[in-house]
Amino acid sequence: MARRKLIAGNWKMNGHRAEAMALTDALVASRRAVPGFDAEMLICPPATMLDRVGQHLEGSPIMLGAQDTHHQHAGAYTGDYSAAMAKDLGARFVIVGHSERRDHHRESNEQVKGKAEAVIGLGLTAIICVGESEAERRAGRATEVVCGQVCGSLPKGADEQNLVIAYEPIWAVGSGRIPTGEEVVEIHSAIRHCLRDALGSHADGVRILYGGSVKPSNARDFLVLSDVDGCLVGGASLKADEFWAIALASQGLPA
Ligand code: PEP
Repeated sequence: MARRKLIAGNWKMNGHRAEAMALTDALVASRRAVPGFDAEMLICPPATMLDRVGQHLEGSPIMLGAQDTHHQHAGAYTGDYSAAMAKDLGARFVIVGHSERRDHHRESNEQVKGKAEAVIGLGLTAIICVGESEAERRAGRATEVVCGQVCGSLPKGADEQNLVIAYEPIWAVGSGRIPTGEEVVEIHSAIRHCLRDALGSHADGVRILYGGSVKPSNARDFLVLSDVDGCLVGGASLKADEFWAIALASQGLPA
């Protein structure tokens, strides 16, 4: 099944207004300059910038996403924000279960599932992140851990329209270290099998992204692999030229 590539930028807790708007405008200009460009592009700024970035993306083909929303739509949850609020600001995707949330906030699969259910219940798409630690990989448990996270985090009602999985080995996130192509293919294919078991005929349309130290210099190596349907990019998504070069690589185009 043909799946359109998705190149998603996770800005994490970075960016103030001026630089964020300059980055957004530069990406929109690059994307507009290549009208037949086939990959989908998404940027996920911090909550503080969703509104403004959304305004700068209006009318452009680049989509807006949010990072980590609450499992409830509203209520007494000081400091949190909901998927409904992100949707109100124009977000169409939400990243949930990022390893930084699973680690720093001790988020369980059950919590990630609850967040993903809130996201898809609003007609948005959940990008569920999964990935093994270095110790788990060394112990030969990478596939088991990742498949456990996929099965445990899948929201009820998931399908190819409302679900994206991002495989991000924890040891590769922000480290400059990357897995081999064989390691990525092995895990992506195991994820596809888990999805087939859980979602039946919907599974083959679900996009599986690779994330972890993706740069313009290595993006193409990941993007040509089977079952790699795009990338989730952290650090390199904060530089317009680098993120755009990664998007171009998804189409086999030089920067
Ligand atoms: C991420 O945070 O999702 C990520 C993949 O980060 P980086 O690209 O910086 O490794």
